[in-house]
Amino acid sequence: MNPVDDSVESLRAEHEALMQFLYLAPVGLVQAGIDGEIVMINPISAQLLMPLSPDGCLTNLFTALESVAPDLRLQCEQYPRSNGMVFEGLHIHLRAEGRTRGTPQILSLTLLKLDGARVMAVIQDVTAEVRRERQLRQSDAWLNAILTRISDYALVAIDRDGRLCDWNESIARVTGFGEHIVGSPYSIFYPPDAMTAEHLLDRLREAEHNGWSMDEGLRLRADGSQFWGSALIAPLPDREAFGDEPDAPAYCLILRDISDKRAATEKRRQAAFCDHLTALSNRRAFFEAAELEIERATHTPRQLALIVFDADNFKLVNDRHGHPAGDRVLCDLANALRDTFRAVDTVARLGGEEFAVLLPSTGIEQALLVAERLRAQVATRLVAADGAEIAYTVSAGVAVLDAQSDGKIVSIDALIKRADQALYTAKAQGRNRVFPWTPELSTHENTPQRSRDAG
Ligand code: GH3
Ligand code: MG
Ligand code: MG
Repeated sequence: MNPVDDSVESLRAEHEALMQFLYLAPVGLVQAGIDGEIVMINPISAQLLMPLSPDGCLTNLFTALESVAPDLRLQCEQYPRSNGMVFEGLHIHLRAEGRTRGTPQILSLTLLKLDGARVMAVIQDVTAEVRRERQLRQSDAWLNAILTRISDYALVAIDRDGRLCDWNESIARVTGFGEHIVGSPYSIFYPPDAMTAEHLLDRLREAEHNGWSMDEGLRLRADGSQFWGSALIAPLPDREAFGDEPDAPAYCLILRDISDKRAATEKRRQAAFCDHLTALSNRRAFFEAAELEIERATHTPRQLALIVFDADNFKLVNDRHGHPAGDRVLCDLANALRDTFRAVDTVARLGGEEFAVLLPSTGIEQALLVAERLRAQVATRLVAADGAEIAYTVSAGVAVLDAQSDGKIVSIDALIKRADQALYTAKAQGRNRVFPWTPELSTHENTPQRSRDAG
C-alpha cells in the first residue's frame, strides 16, 4: 500500500470510529454545517427530532427546530467567537399531541460551534428530570410545612371539578366559613384575584399527575380577613368507591394556617426568588413561573401573554440625577406594576431597567390594554429624589402564545424573543408606547439578543 492509500485508510478508520461513537452515544448528537445542513445524525437525535419535522425528512437542523427555536440560525450566525458554546441546555416543550394527560416532552438542546463551518448539537430528553426536580421541590415545601409549627389545619374533600363536597368543624376553625359553602369551588379560600377558574383545574391536574399539588400564599377567611396558609391537594386513593357521579369526592384538600412560619418562609423565598432592589420576582423566579405556565398551556391549550417593559432613556435619569435616584425610579415603576397586574400574573424584574409580566389565560387585546394602562399610569407619575420631581416613561412589547396558531410546540425563549422584537419597534417609533408583536417583525432580525442568564 502506498503512503497516500495509507493515510486515506487511516482517515477512513478515524471517520468510522467517530461514526461508531456517534451511534453509541447515550445522548442525541447532530453535526451540521454552519447553515444547519446535517452532516451526521445519530439514532437518538433522529428519534427526538423526527416529530418536529413536518415533512419527515431531516436535512437541516435549524429548519427542523424552527417552530421551537426560531432564532437558532441567527444566534449561531451572530455568535461572536470562532468556536464555543452558543447556548447550553435550552428547554423546549413539545405538546403531548392528542393527550390531555401526561407531561409534555421536554428536550434540552445545547449548541456548540466547532469552527467557522461546523456546529454540533447535543439533544436530550429531560422530561423525567424536570418533573423529578419539581416534585422534589414540592416535597421540600411540604416537609417544611410539617416540620415547622403549624397553627391549625382544615381537611375537606373536593369533587373532580374542585367543588367542596362537605363541611366540617376544621373548616370553621381555620376559615370561619359555614355549611353553606358546600358545592362552592375551593377558590373561596383564596383572595379574589389570586385564583382563576383555570388555575383551579390546573392544580387538580397537577395533583393527578404528581400525586399532590401544593401551594403557599394568602388565604381568605369568611370575614374577609387574610392569613398565610398552604394548600395541599391530593387525589383520594379510594375514590372509585364513591362512584363516578360528578359531585363524588375525588381529592382531599388540606388547608393550613402557617402564619407562624411565614416570616421564616418569606425570608428564604426572598433570598432565592426576589429582586433585591424592587422586591418583585427576579429572573430565576420568572423563568420558573414561565416554564410552569408553558407546561400548563401545553396540557390544556390556552393563551399566555408576555409583556416586556423597558424604562425609556434611563441612562439620562442616572446621568442627570445620580444612580440612587435612578434606583428610586425603578422602585416606583415596580410599585406601578404591582398595582396594575393581578396576583395570578408573574411580575418580574429581568435585570437593569427591564421588567416582564406573564399573564396566564390572556389574549393579545387584553394584554395590550393593560400594558397601555401601565404605560399611561407611569407617564403621570413623579418621583421625588435628588431634590427634584423626576418624570419618566416606559415602552412595552407584547407577545401572545396562542396554542391554536402557534402549532404544537412552544418555548419561553421564543415568546420572549417576540416580545423583545415588539419592544424594539416601540423604541424605534419614539418610545413611551406599547407595541404588539406581529409576524412581520420576525423578518427584521435586528433585535438585540438576550440570554437567559444575563441581566
Ligand atoms: P432606551 O430608551 O433605549 O431603553 O434607553 P436607555 O438609556 O434606557 O437604555 P440603555 O440600555 O442605554 O441604558 C440602561 C441604563 O440603565 C444604563 C444603566 O446604567 C441603567 N441601569 C441598569 N440597572 C440599573 C440599576 O439597578 N439602577 C440604576 N439606577 N440604573 C440602572
Ligand atoms: Mg431602557
Ligand atoms: Mg434596557
